[in-house]
Amino acid sequence: MSSRKKIVAGNWKMNKSLQEAKILAEQITNQVNEFDEVTKIIIPPFPFLETVKQTISNKPNFYIGAQNCHTNSSGAFTGEVSANMLHSVGCEYVLIGHSERRQYFKEKDADFILKIKEALKNNIHPIFCIGETIHERKTDNHFKVITEQLTAVLKEFSVEEFSKFILAYEPVWAIGTGETATSAQAQEMHAFIRSIVTDIFDSSVAANVSILYGGSCNAQNAQELFRCPDVDGGLIGGASLKADDFCKIIFSF
Ligand code: PEP
Repeated sequence: MSSRKKIVAGNWKMNKSLQEAKILAEQITNQVNEFDEVTKIIIPPFPFLETVKQTISNKPNFYIGAQNCHTNSSGAFTGEVSANMLHSVGCEYVLIGHSERRQYFKEKDADFILKIKEALKNNIHPIFCIGETIHERKTDNHFKVITEQLTAVLKEFSVEEFSKFILAYEPVWAIGTGETATSAQAQEMHAFIRSIVTDIFDSSVAANVSILYGGSCNAQNAQELFRCPDVDGGLIGGASLKADDFCKIIFSF
């Protein structure tokens, strides 16, 4: 028996004002019933973390996550936010390796390793994102790229540390494009990711890690994706900005 959780995480990216963030969080929590078993992670911009945390505070199985953290714990890094700051506002998850961080901020494997170490030191679960570009898929390099992205980072962690991870498979060509991976493509890659985790650690570690799908997942396609045996939930961008859509995704298991 695996201990995998069903998880839906909403990455709000750089959207909303404080007032809008509060309303959205209230609309989401009001629609989800108390006994819902799905782990729900709301990932707002940094300035709204505390407000969203307060809004979800009495709601079971709701958590807040951050979109990034720095590689250091404190110091002269103007404009940056550390994992221990995130912990101090009640943050329990952090996105690491998102394709937008890779593409626009040129973050590399070495950054992800340091950031994940900082997150773990502060009891924050890393949601480590991996995914291939359209060019890499079209040239049949997607399995190779995913293997490299996973191996470079995971080999730096122990089994115990890795047990705190969530993985997110996010094909870059599907993020914000409206073009979703088919359920067959998602299942194929999620099963492959589990095989790589088996190679790095072992099969029981692989069976227990939650792997989320991300990339234009929405209220219409979530159910089919979540039916795949190796898809444990979704990392949702655009569709997490509308309460009705996000809640429909939560109810899609
Ligand atoms: C994301 O940015 O993680 C994401 C999955 O975005 P979208 O759902 O908008 O494709």
